[in-house]
Amino acid sequence: MSHTPIFDTHAHYTSHQFDADRADLLHTLPRQGVVGVVDCAVDYATSLACLELAEQYPFVYAALGIHPESLIEETASTVAQFQGDWNAELRSIAALFDNKKAVAVGECGLDYHWPVPKEEQLAMFEAHLKLARELDKPIIVHDRKAHADVYDLLKRYQPQGVVHCFSGSAEDAQMLTKQGMYIGFGGALTFKGAKRAVKAATAIPLEQIVLETDCPYMAPEPCRGHRCDSGLIAHTAAFLAEIRGISVQEVLTVTTQNAQRLFGV
Ligand SMILES: [Zn+2]
Repeated sequence: MSHTPIFDTHAHYTSHQFDADRADLLHTLPRQGVVGVVDCAVDYATSLACLELAEQYPFVYAALGIHPESLIEETASTVAQFQGDWNAELRSIAALFDNKKAVAVGECGLDYHWPVPKEEQLAMFEAHLKLARELDKPIIVHDRKAHADVYDLLKRYQPQGVVHCFSGSAEDAQMLTKQGMYIGFGGALTFKGAKRAVKAATAIPLEQIVLETDCPYMAPEPCRGHRCDSGLIAHTAAFLAEIRGISVQEVLTVTTQNAQRLFGV
């Protein structure tokens, strides 16, 4: 399956799951139609690594920030290097935005699935919203079982950005897009039982949808369970085209334009 243009707004190519073949894989992506990838950091160490990838590959851009799970992840620099002082970590990350390939703040947000201290993640997400405002950059938002608190902060700060791997309702999606946010859909949209996501993906303008992988995770059907990469967005795009009753070409063209507009690339 080869389609173009594909813009992957959420990838993790710095993941250890790509250690064996990262360079080989990234070199093949343009041939699969991939014109852009935003690689998302989860802490300081991956912020440096994402920027390094972005410097090596013209089509790769970086989002820099601290994922809420990093607060309790022993191997994350939040714990291992900064001993939980995420304020200091975020200051170190903010300094990296001198680099032109740093196009967004994130991934950041709220995760109420894992036992991450709630007050701390709320404060950290708010600090990212303030940083995005200061830098005038879009934000990449992680929202897992935390819709009310995420929407509340987005309403308060009115950032530009994406709610990635969207899991809210159609009404939520409409509320967010009216506020100017983009909604990110990935492989999960194609999973059996993703009726809620399908409703959301058909309730909002195509002009505010962006596609993503969250690779190495979340490979779309029919590749579910395998390691994901940006080329597989072709499947997610085909699925979105089918449920919206339009062509794959239109889905890919418009969602790529959306991503380029949002990230200014
Ligand atoms: Zn992610």
